[in-house]
Amino acid sequence: MGEERVNILGMSPEQLVDYCGTLGEKPFRARQLLRWIHQCGVGDFDAMTDLAKSFRAKLNRIAEIRAPSVLADHVSQDGTRKWLLDVGQGNAIESVFIPEDDRGTLCVSTQAGCAVNCLFCSTGKQGFNRNLTADEIIGQLWMAEAAVRKSRGVPPGKDGRQISNVVMMGMGEPLHNFDATVAALKLMLDDNAYGLSRRRVTVSTCGVVPMMDKLAKECPVALAVSLHAPNDKLRDVLVPLNRRYPLAELMAACRRYFEHAPRDFVMFEYCMLNGVNDSDVHAKELVQLVRRGPTAVPCKVNLIPFNSIPMPGLSRSTDERIEAFAKILRDAGIITTIRKTRGDDIEAACGLLAGEIMDKTRVQERMAEKGIGTEGYIKTYTFKNVCS
Ligand code: SF4
Repeated sequence: MGEERVNILGMSPEQLVDYCGTLGEKPFRARQLLRWIHQCGVGDFDAMTDLAKSFRAKLNRIAEIRAPSVLADHVSQDGTRKWLLDVGQGNAIESVFIPEDDRGTLCVSTQAGCAVNCLFCSTGKQGFNRNLTADEIIGQLWMAEAAVRKSRGVPPGKDGRQISNVVMMGMGEPLHNFDATVAALKLMLDDNAYGLSRRRVTVSTCGVVPMMDKLAKECPVALAVSLHAPNDKLRDVLVPLNRRYPLAELMAACRRYFEHAPRDFVMFEYCMLNGVNDSDVHAKELVQLVRRGPTAVPCKVNLIPFNSIPMPGLSRSTDERIEAFAKILRDAGIITTIRKTRGDDIEAACGLLAGEIMDKTRVQERMAEKGIGTEGYIKTYTFKNVCS
């Protein structure tokens, strides 16, 4: 049996320079490889015509460019597109492309499962399975860009990029998988790869304070924070990580982030849970938290209508309640948006993504086709998180 080939898809620009060095190649070869792989979407070394034939032959023997394989691909009536991706050993993740008039946004996952265990999130209830590798994170973008181009008749190449924004808001807590997340971020930002602006790449965290500081120093991009509660007592219950990094520490970390951040505000995500965190009193507390006193931080607030999933005691706030909550924030001068639901018909809306994975029969059929068992899928995945 031959040696296992190295997957170079997720190598950061620096790692690729080092890798080329180990093969006796100069740093500019790494730049060429980056352009072929990420700018042009090429996965075949033989097609990289400006590389020496001997180098291509060597790469064919020892390296590969491999993204997670697609188990399912659905397009919503509103154009939202969802992929279910196999990441091996019974694990699956999901990525969602959201087209809008002026942009195309890809939501990517960073972990299989999640250890944070937020009260309203089934991903958390399933527990943590494993961190995704950088290959698996950037592979979602690589695969999705090619797929969207193909469906729109846009040829592969440097021009005509279809995905203009990336949000790390899928399954998992990105800052609990720091190294792979940063390696993937560096590829997204590198001019020889995807060349996205830091403002167009967003990391969403539930508040891993030390890693927020680390991210600010190593790879500052736009920041979203899953807040979901305006006081520690409630947030301790909804987002258990709050017991470790309470709101005062989290807000201080947000302020420190601005010293490096590409944007002058933090986006606070707030999932609207009927009778739990959606009263006028909660809205006023939220105003107090983010606008006044020592915890104040420049921000926008994004209210997310909870996508009802089977979770005892939790349901979506009414539209009227969400509007009333938003009005209190807006009257206090806080820019507040209410998230539009996209991709309902393919279960791609926030919090609904793994509805299909719950359908054991359909997953079993697919996995049987691929000769893979299903046990891990059912155990690990029931729906996408709602912290995004
Ligand atoms: S909401 Fe986000 S951070 Fe919380 S358990 Fe779910 S995936 Fe993890």
